[in-house]
Amino acid sequence: MLFSHLKKTTNGQLSLDQDLEVSRFSTDTRNLTGHPSEVFIAIKRKRDGHDYIKNAISKGTRNFIVSSDIEVADVNVLLVSDTLKAFHQIAYHHRKKFKIPLIGITGSNGKTIVKEWLSTILSEHFYVVKSPRSYNSQIGVPTSLMEIKKNHEVGIFEAGISQKGEMEHLQKIINPTLGVFTNLGHAHDDGFDSLDQKLEEKLALFSNSEKVICRGDTSYFAKIQKQLGDKLVSWNPDGTGKYNVKWNPHYIAVNSYKFQTEFSDPSQLENLTHAIVAALEMGLAQDEIQRGVNLIENVPMRLELKEGINGCYLLDDTYNNDVIGLKVALDYLESHQQNSKRTLILSDILHSGLPDEKLYKDVSDLLKSKSVDRLIGVGPRISAAEHVFQIERIFFDSTDALLADLPDFKDEMVVIKGARDFELERVTQKLEERSHGTVLEVNFESLQYNLNQYRNLLKPTTKLMVMVKANAYGSGLLEVANFLQHQRVDMLGVAYVDEAILLRKNGIHIPIMIMNPHIASFDQFEKYDLQAEIFSFSYLNRMMRDTQKPPKIHLKIDTGMHRLGFAKDHILQLTENLKKHPDLIVESIFTHFSSSDMKSEDTFTSLQAEEFDDVYNQIVDALGYQPIKHACNSAGMVRWPQYHYDMVRLGIGLHGFDPSGELSLRHSSQLKTVISQIQHLKAGDTVGYSRKGKIENDSKIAIIPIGYEDGYSRIFGNGRAHVRVNDILCPTVGNVCMDMTMIDVTDVDVSEGDEVIIFGNNPEISDLAKWSDTIPYEILTNVSNRVKRVFVSE
Ligand SMILES: *Cc1c(COP(=O)(O)O)cnc(C)c1O
Repeated sequence: MLFSHLKKTTNGQLSLDQDLEVSRFSTDTRNLTGHPSEVFIAIKRKRDGHDYIKNAISKGTRNFIVSSDIEVADVNVLLVSDTLKAFHQIAYHHRKKFKIPLIGITGSNGKTIVKEWLSTILSEHFYVVKSPRSYNSQIGVPTSLMEIKKNHEVGIFEAGISQKGEMEHLQKIINPTLGVFTNLGHAHDDGFDSLDQKLEEKLALFSNSEKVICRGDTSYFAKIQKQLGDKLVSWNPDGTGKYNVKWNPHYIAVNSYKFQTEFSDPSQLENLTHAIVAALEMGLAQDEIQRGVNLIENVPMRLELKEGINGCYLLDDTYNNDVIGLKVALDYLESHQQNSKRTLILSDILHSGLPDEKLYKDVSDLLKSKSVDRLIGVGPRISAAEHVFQIERIFFDSTDALLADLPDFKDEMVVIKGARDFELERVTQKLEERSHGTVLEVNFESLQYNLNQYRNLLKPTTKLMVMVKANAYGSGLLEVANFLQHQRVDMLGVAYVDEAILLRKNGIHIPIMIMNPHIASFDQFEKYDLQAEIFSFSYLNRMMRDTQKPPKIHLKIDTGMHRLGFAKDHILQLTENLKKHPDLIVESIFTHFSSSDMKSEDTFTSLQAEEFDDVYNQIVDALGYQPIKHACNSAGMVRWPQYHYDMVRLGIGLHGFDPSGELSLRHSSQLKTVISQIQHLKAGDTVGYSRKGKIENDSKIAIIPIGYEDGYSRIFGNGRAHVRVNDILCPTVGNVCMDMTMIDVTDVDVSEGDEVIIFGNNPEISDLAKWSDTIPYEILTNVSNRVKRVFVSE
């Protein structure tokens, strides 16, 4: 379609430079590649997309849909009254061209899983198009719908809403022929007056559907029945309904069919049953469905970024392989760009609905636009298409052939993406850094969620600095900093110069403030464009003496913390000093509250703020301009909105611990390990050093490979801490050793190799803090560098 055709669809005003064929629509400049077929839609949300138009132009984007006039030349602009609505109209138009059945999925939990599983099953019979990951929002849904192409035979799209009125829009554009309602829970309750209202709103997705699949034994089933009437196709785990389902060990019975499965968790069984029933409704045969179910089992459904050999990072996405999934994985890389070289290991893409020549040409374009440097192709079909690729490339007929003759990898990002049959996880295993079984798993969705909770507290104009000192509170400096840069935070804070240099060497370009700069490191400031906290005269003077061009500085004011900083009495001397150096740029002036989280010290905090105001004004008078003013840490952000000033400094809150206790955050990191060995001990035996662990009754003891060297303090020994094994909390036994700990698993059904949770959702970091009489900060930052970090995204 030509860009000019969108005028009619959206009823907008067109200003054309050169009409172009367009097919890719994006609302986020970070996903733009500069391809002439790209359209950037500027949407006003918390951030205004219009502010990023220059950025898009510099990337090479030529087509824009906007709602306010913009002053730019040589591009195509479509001016509409509401850009989100325009995007919906475009998606609606596109969707309408295809007469294929579309399956719409909504509900509180399980939407993405049901969609992915159903897609795997239906792919045994149809060419399927589906929304990537959890693209289910007012923007995600139209983005997904634009992916429908001529050869597709079925579409599966999920719809998620967070407030009233939203589903009507999604219904219009998806207009599903078949619906699946997963379940009703409490997610997004605040956007609705009641659970009933939320249910009614969600079911609005199906107002025009022919059939809707839902579970028949829920407390809200009668209400669903009232709203949807005879459209309902219900299934029931024990009783009536069109589908009579029975969950047995090792299989699910659906009417007279039996489907083998090893799933036993009720929510997994619920999700799988939804997918099976939907597949039956779509007319699939039992053996086709069974083949799909076999593919589903125990495959992680998430992207994992792992540290690999020779300084590489591995993005492991070996679950499924389609072009849109590949695009998502490569987009994801943009936000986690620790190394600049990019290699893609890609298997044959099956079930694409396109002839190979066209398919791999598309892939080749995508790789070019995403700056992939090297392609390693696995499989006969991609090998046959070798000539369409223009980058460095090498091909193997099979995974075995690749493993037998593995190319070199060094300091690069390696994306591994393949169809299930290729078992590319064998390649991932080979490229993974060795680990002793203990890993800290950091979840980017949770970090994002927590960041959003804090952002929601800020006025749109308030800047956000995020502290990434101490290896980003133990979570991984480079990865977290990359994530934050991608999230467009305004500044990062670190403790020392070497941390800042490491960030600069790894692609971090946003401003960095160093809290404890070392006198010897002045020459590094200019070289790496760093900014220094200044807290004393001796330091200030040395800096002025030793540097040609001093860095931007941040003046630290001591208002009561009595750590670093200029005290009230020194301000006159400070302003005199500053006047002598008019070329010195004071970027910010700040203080730190000693007790922003403590109600009992609120008077003191207010006094600190009062004193800070005075000092700030004095310095501003002397400077003649207003540097950025800031004071609040995580707790202050929640408890002291009146002191947000121009900027705030987020720290531990990002990682899921709210010192004020008022927010509900997500635990972003999980420390876990595996059982190395199991011992059966008799009453009277003892465990570990100094025979501290006395066995009173015959017991089963497990040894786990984590000790005080990993950051699991010796204080946790002798039953003072618990770990979780197969959902049961087990106490430690005896002293914690340097590399190992013993736990009592007498009451647990366990085998060697089973997973052990040290902290995460249960026990929580704050439990460990309590058991060892410290604070969550210390538990987080104690996790040692030898523990491998794995970064996951659901
Ligand atoms: C570490 C730090 C913060 C962040 O503190 P949290 O309590 O983790 O939010 C803010 N400001 C300064 C100066 C810090 O050193």
